[in-house]
Amino acid sequence: MASPALPRPWPPALPPALLLLREGPEEAGRPDAAADEEPAPGDGGRRIVCRACGQTLTTAAARTARGGSHRHVFANPHGYVFDLALFRAAPGCRGVGPPSTEFPWFPGCSWQVAVCRRCDIHLGWRFAPLAGGAAFHGLIADRIAEITEGN
Ligand SMILES: [Zn+2]
Repeated sequence: MASPALPRPWPPALPPALLLLREGPEEAGRPDAAADEEPAPGDGGRRIVCRACGQTLTTAAARTARGGSHRHVFANPHGYVFDLALFRAAPGCRGVGPPSTEFPWFPGCSWQVAVCRRCDIHLGWRFAPLAGGAAFHGLIADRIAEITEGN
């Protein structure tokens, strides 16, 4: 009779680091999804800042979407929920540690922790498509604030 099956890779049903709670429609096969949204003229005066120290991180015009959604909510096994807002770039953040491909939150993307350049608070993650293309940032919505200039 057949011997017991060889050990086989067992795909984890859910990534241990984070469980995806909610996202938009399928984004697979859309490597250019991050480029879907054009910069919105008129958003240039609205800055996205670090809520802790006021450092400018990016602008409202840099908002982007993956799978049709600007906001993505994840939770980890400890019950922490991260509500991420996506931006094409966040020059006010800096990456910490090496990029990782373990338990990718966005399929086909590596991720790297992103902190505030000024106060070092954890603000989110930088995601880079493994196949190339534009990287994007997911910033934790309640750690950032939007400021309208001259208002
Ligand atoms: Zn800061």
